[in-house]
Amino acid sequence: MPTGTEHHGSNVSLARRAWAIRRNALRMGEVQGQGYIGQALGIADVLAVSYFHAMTYRAGDPEWEGRDRFYLSIGHYAIALYAALIEAGVLPEDEIPTYGMDDSRMPMSGMAAYTPGMEITGGSLGHGLGIAVGAALALKRKDNPAFVYNMLSDGELGEGSTWEAVMSAVQWKLDNLIAIVDFNNQQADGPTRDALAVGSEAPKWAAFGWYAQEVDGNDLAAVVDAFDKARNHTGTCPRVIICNTRMCKGIPFLEDRETTHFIRVEPDEWAKALTLLDEEKPL
Ligand SMILES: [Mg+2]
Repeated sequence: MPTGTEHHGSNVSLARRAWAIRRNALRMGEVQGQGYIGQALGIADVLAVSYFHAMTYRAGDPEWEGRDRFYLSIGHYAIALYAALIEAGVLPEDEIPTYGMDDSRMPMSGMAAYTPGMEITGGSLGHGLGIAVGAALALKRKDNPAFVYNMLSDGELGEGSTWEAVMSAVQWKLDNLIAIVDFNNQQADGPTRDALAVGSEAPKWAAFGWYAQEVDGNDLAAVVDAFDKARNHTGTCPRVIICNTRMCKGIPFLEDRETTHFIRVEPDEWAKALTLLDEEKPL
């Protein structure tokens, strides 16, 4: 089966890809004046590694059967995934001004029927990993060597359905499943660690039978290493990467805000954020 990505071997650095993802997300946020920008800025480095290092896909053929699947469990992170899909060439950049509009292909919550590259409809939290388990099992039965990546949030670790899926993946020996947990310690009602006794995540997943790693999700080299280890691990178990990320990463005056789950930004602040980002543009 041929590999499909045109990005492998590209001379564009991952730092530049992550920067572009952050910039696309900020531009979409500016269209609506508000949104889940903090999450998008926080997870941009992990998305850059996913789309420009780890995954095989064809930008012009998002339903290519040989593609690695990327399932976004957290529908409200759609702005982050759109930003990556635009940088990957799956979505056109000139649709950014339509973000969140009635006739847009980029609604504010991720919906599979609307958007090329949006593989599942997220939003009802705690369901993504279960869908990913089913898809990974189906791919194995079809002898399709593709991986299924499932990005979920730390808030979803408080959903019982997530843990049913965790056990199922081990039962079915889904070595083609890679879960990515965005651990930003924020959820709608406040800090994740104040909501439920989350504990130490990697040992917990490992105890369930997963190959578990925990990394600084804003350290590109560390994330690359973790993705490589997850793909190359020789065991028959599913894999998880706990990515500790910082909300609003890269825009200091937003990082310093106390409440970041859903943020509103004044028009002049968008300009300030984009200027700050542009000053940090990597080669
Ligand atoms: Mg969170």
